[in-house]
Amino acid sequence: MKTGFLKVLFLSALFATLANTDQIIRIAVGHEKGVVHISGPDLEAVTGDGKAIKNSGSIKLSPGRSAVMQGSSSTESQLVRIKSPGLITVQNRKFRGNLEVIWQHTGGTQELLLVHLLPIETYVAGIVASETPKGWGLEALKAQAITSRTYAVWQKYRRLTGDYHMESTTIDQVYRGIDAEHSLAVKATEDTNGQVLTYAGRPIQAYFHAACGGHTESAEDIWGTALPYLPGAKCGFCKGSRSYKWEYRINRLSLNSALKSVSPGSVKAIRAGQKTEGGRLKTVEILGKKGKKVISGDMLRKLLGYNNLRSTLITDISIGPLFATFSGRGHGHGVGLCQWGAYGMANAGYSAKDILEHYFPGTEIRKMY
Ligand SMILES: [Zn+2]
Repeated sequence: MKTGFLKVLFLSALFATLANTDQIIRIAVGHEKGVVHISGPDLEAVTGDGKAIKNSGSIKLSPGRSAVMQGSSSTESQLVRIKSPGLITVQNRKFRGNLEVIWQHTGGTQELLLVHLLPIETYVAGIVASETPKGWGLEALKAQAITSRTYAVWQKYRRLTGDYHMESTTIDQVYRGIDAEHSLAVKATEDTNGQVLTYAGRPIQAYFHAACGGHTESAEDIWGTALPYLPGAKCGFCKGSRSYKWEYRINRLSLNSALKSVSPGSVKAIRAGQKTEGGRLKTVEILGKKGKKVISGDMLRKLLGYNNLRSTLITDISIGPLFATFSGRGHGHGVGLCQWGAYGMANAGYSAKDILEHYFPGTEIRKMY
């Protein structure tokens, strides 16, 4: 793909910025208003201006009026850096690497923002291990690694000057997968080291979801913003997913109670409204005893539970005397990489590059560092 001179300039500037920051990603892992208990072997705690905080492998920090407090005395600093050669335990969650505790004043109260710093490659390996079931082939894992790295880089670039680049409340889960059995996740990460997906020279917004159910969606149809590399793609590859076809049954009483906030009186019927090109419900019409109301398909998913209504690709809604039954296909928002589709394509002999070109047409893999 030919890119203009300006784009090349822009790209080199961006890549240089990221390279200079040692490919570290900063992940917000907590906002704490009370006491934060931190422990770890040979724990080191140093304030922003370099003053060591004495500890015996365990410290308790809390937000003071204008600085981080240790017990009842002020550290006189709004930043405390934590290091340990082993695992750092914070409020019963474990982290490997460095942690920053940042004093903040938000919404009228003081809090401590906890930021976990780790190399992007470590983060990517963790995501690949937690996002892909064991037994998936290397090419599917490589496609996931490039997608996750691209997403992380895009977030980092977007928030380059902020206290953190990504928010996560489940970072400990992210690490659960890295063990001997998941060495393939590490290999997929190493084999694609530094590779990101770009469009017109810039890292793309690399979204992914579990299974599309037959056709991925355009970003425009789902979020209202058109992205040239997310037009939606036909996918006949995710049939191996248990969510390719699903059914959710709920009794009428529970349905009434779940939709209480939106239905005018008890629910009589639910009808499909506007649809996306891929067949997802943009809107649904709820007919209650006292009238009707139109809500978004996503709101219906939220009210009934994202794991019950696995997608808005709902193909049938039938309301019987005792039960309502929703039939549908796919799991997740349907935009970008279909993970089960990647698995299916890898099994059919396609490479990670083929997989990514299929779900993100017009993009190019570039080595960023
Ligand atoms: Zn699919």
